[in-house]
Amino acid sequence: MTDIYKVNPQKPEKVILKKAADIIKKSRLVAFPTETVYGLGADALNSNAVKKIFFAKERPMDNPLIVHIADKDDIYILAKNIPKEANNLIHKFFPGPLTIVLEKKPIVPDETTARLATVAIRMPENRIAIDLIQASQTPIAAPSANRAGRPSPTRAEHVFQDLKEKIDLIIDGGPTKLGLESTVVDLTVETPQILRPGAVTLEMLKPELKKIELHPSILGNHADLETIPKSPGMKYRHYAPKAKLMVIVGNRENIHFKIEELIHDLHMKKMKVGIASVSERKYPADHIENLGYSKNEIAKNLFDILRRFDELNLDLIIAEGVDEEGIGLAIMNRLQKASGYAVIRV
Ligand code: AMP
Ligand code: MG
Repeated sequence: MTDIYKVNPQKPEKVILKKAADIIKKSRLVAFPTETVYGLGADALNSNAVKKIFFAKERPMDNPLIVHIADKDDIYILAKNIPKEANNLIHKFFPGPLTIVLEKKPIVPDETTARLATVAIRMPENRIAIDLIQASQTPIAAPSANRAGRPSPTRAEHVFQDLKEKIDLIIDGGPTKLGLESTVVDLTVETPQILRPGAVTLEMLKPELKKIELHPSILGNHADLETIPKSPGMKYRHYAPKAKLMVIVGNRENIHFKIEELIHDLHMKKMKVGIASVSERKYPADHIENLGYSKNEIAKNLFDILRRFDELNLDLIIAEGVDEEGIGLAIMNRLQKASGYAVIRV
């Protein structure tokens, strides 16, 4: 049985958090909201507990988990040889949607980090997440609370769709504030590297670090994914809706023209087409979902809308892309992956 408890996100009910913390202490699983997406939590320092995350999600064991802390100082429990740059980032972005990768201490089980010598650490800002970690008296390992390969959950219903009967409790704190997973920055390499773009953007990180670069896979170089074993999670198919997805990027007018051409061709083949739009264009498609007009809205709605398309039995979904400035890079990274790199530039 999976219980779902609604919790006040501003003032989380202590009784419910205590119940959730007791489950974590018993080496079992609790899904909870963070400001990015819902996480599937287990005691990060207990290998038996962590293994249950991989089973419930059907997640490959070589895809490492992010460890969530409630106090900046807990970094020192988990990591060693912490470079100076880490302090800048922690000072500026903790708590918040930034994960940093550091050298791990032996207290962190191999299961948590998929046998890497490094550990990924984040301090969430969401009150429910912070209170749960504190009440559990241990750092909480929490990947996104979806079945592996599916769009990340931004609402408690999404977690229920994917993990019902596999976990004890879902804490429902309403839709998540940001909607995309955290930015991941590796600080164990010569030049700090963004492994996954998120709401803490490249532009925001630049002033805090002497040097910073993007992992090659973020720029859509699919071939690199197979050869660069640094962050194993990056090689798996992600966020995929049931129907095939295609993304069109470039000049706004060209995008409109290309999509209308595609709809025409697909209708000739009697295929049902859905559109994920970021403009007011009225396409002659079978279904249109508007992702939003600002990038923050698009980020917040993206995964929810990818899941909504699943109920419609479409043959193809076509998404209008955005430019890669600011959080646009994170949006395009998720769209690229969800489409299996079916991106057309016009
Ligand atoms: P999820 O929490 O499901 O969004 O997945 C966490 C992601 O964080 C993984 O897929 C990796 O890409 C990244 N990650 C976690 N731990 C590490 C690590 N030690 N080194 C590099 N990347 C990591
Ligand atoms: Mg995930």
